[in-house]
Amino acid sequence: MSLSTTIETPAVKYEQPLGLFINNEFVKGSEGKTFETINPTNEKPITSVHEANEKDVDIAVAAARKAFEGAWSQVTPTERGRMLTKLADLFERDSDTLAAIEALDNGKAMTMAKLDVANAANCLRYYGGWADKITGQTIDTNPETLAYTRHEPIGVCGQIIPWNFPILMWAWKIGPAIAAGNTVVIKTAEQTPLSGLYAAKLIKEAGFPAGVVNVISGFGRVAGAAISSHMDIDKVAFTGSTLVGRTILQAAAKSNLKKVTLELGGKSPNIIFNDADIDNAIAWANFGIFFNHGQCCCAGSRLLVQEGIHDKFVARFKERAAQNKLGNPFAADTFQGPQVSQLQFDRIMEYINHGKKAGATVAIGGERHGNEGYFIQPTLFTDVTGDMKIAQEEIFGPVITVQKFKDEAEAIKIGNSTSYGLAAAVHTKDLNTAIRVSNALKAGTVWVNQYNMISYQAPFGGFKESGIGRELGSYALENYTQVKAVHYRLGDAPFS
Ligand code: ADP
Repeated sequence: MSLSTTIETPAVKYEQPLGLFINNEFVKGSEGKTFETINPTNEKPITSVHEANEKDVDIAVAAARKAFEGAWSQVTPTERGRMLTKLADLFERDSDTLAAIEALDNGKAMTMAKLDVANAANCLRYYGGWADKITGQTIDTNPETLAYTRHEPIGVCGQIIPWNFPILMWAWKIGPAIAAGNTVVIKTAEQTPLSGLYAAKLIKEAGFPAGVVNVISGFGRVAGAAISSHMDIDKVAFTGSTLVGRTILQAAAKSNLKKVTLELGGKSPNIIFNDADIDNAIAWANFGIFFNHGQCCCAGSRLLVQEGIHDKFVARFKERAAQNKLGNPFAADTFQGPQVSQLQFDRIMEYINHGKKAGATVAIGGERHGNEGYFIQPTLFTDVTGDMKIAQEEIFGPVITVQKFKDEAEAIKIGNSTSYGLAAAVHTKDLNTAIRVSNALKAGTVWVNQYNMISYQAPFGGFKESGIGRELGSYALENYTQVKAVHYRLGDAPFS
């Protein structure tokens, strides 16, 4: 199979690279295997890409190691920053193409995909700005010593990303790793390999030396497992399910104790108090769960509504959700496209059926939408109790539960009652309530009177079983540097 193909989307026609991107070249996998990527809107294959196995991971890691010890170590921080900034410019130049690839391969609405690409570009530019601002400290230990710290790159970083925000996760991972002077082997998700490969082409154009960024397509249990257990990868960063996150942590422990950061699942509470601005709260609750078809690790999937406005809120929420336009991701007015794959579709339908059987009421939705593509109706469950599976486990689809609470203490108790701690939100006009509840929620991100607003300038990550470490902001740089303390003896006074 060839190394590129022409793809025509409803928005753009473009040349799609298909190979593994290793050492700044697109190459075939060592076994010559390929796999199909499916268009979730019509369930038909888009194209096939070359597949990486363990040997290809070895080859990519060797390229990244060589670059790390060689050419890349001679590139100044200023130059690293310039390359990332150039890459951001190229993302903006090709934003229509990148967004169309996302709409095609992932099924997300093109209007939303454009925001993803803009945010990815901004994230790369932001980390370009950090590249020459990574500094240590000088420390006064005693008069005979100059003690200082260096924040050095960790080395070769393995990065494993999911399919829900393919190009955005690519940028979140590569930005801080490269800014800090590491080299990278990144594996895209098998459901959505196309945008990462297109972006790999831009890596070369931005002027990065060969081997600094290597992008491979492949399966989790083969290429992903090879990355997490590799003896010459110094750090692994993963975004995906909590189940796989545990496997990665175990693989790191069993191999070379590589540093691990994990950004995992969530079951985030969206808490609405009686005094909330109801129009605002409805709009954010709808966006909080149905944005990206519910395929967000931080999705506001548990609505907790105070009893005084519960019934009114539920009635208004149903009306609002009914207005969400489902359909072809390329249509200008589409808000919700298909779920990413048959597997995800089946998993979500299983949860919906489980909810029905457990005694919850389907207030809206609960069924497949249409008969082609992996579309699921926006679904709201009422009569939900906290112990139900649909109120405890991550569904990762357009499914939301609502529970009633009496007072602040109960809201906090229910809010904190799952094993996750990725995000949460509180809607109230009372400043004190907002601050008290934000402080009490065990979550890495808390939104007040809004939802899903993530900035590359602020940290993102989980409490509890939602993860380890933080992405974004200056915090991400801590996960891509290691601190060395140097104690330099001054003068030549004899040691006594
Ligand atoms: P989902 O279940 O939503 O597909 P996963 O957590 O399985 O999410 O996938 C996220 C990423 O993790 C993908 O790139 C996938 O290939 C990878 N992955 C899956 N299983 C493993 C594994 N055992 N080891 C390493 N990576 C894996």
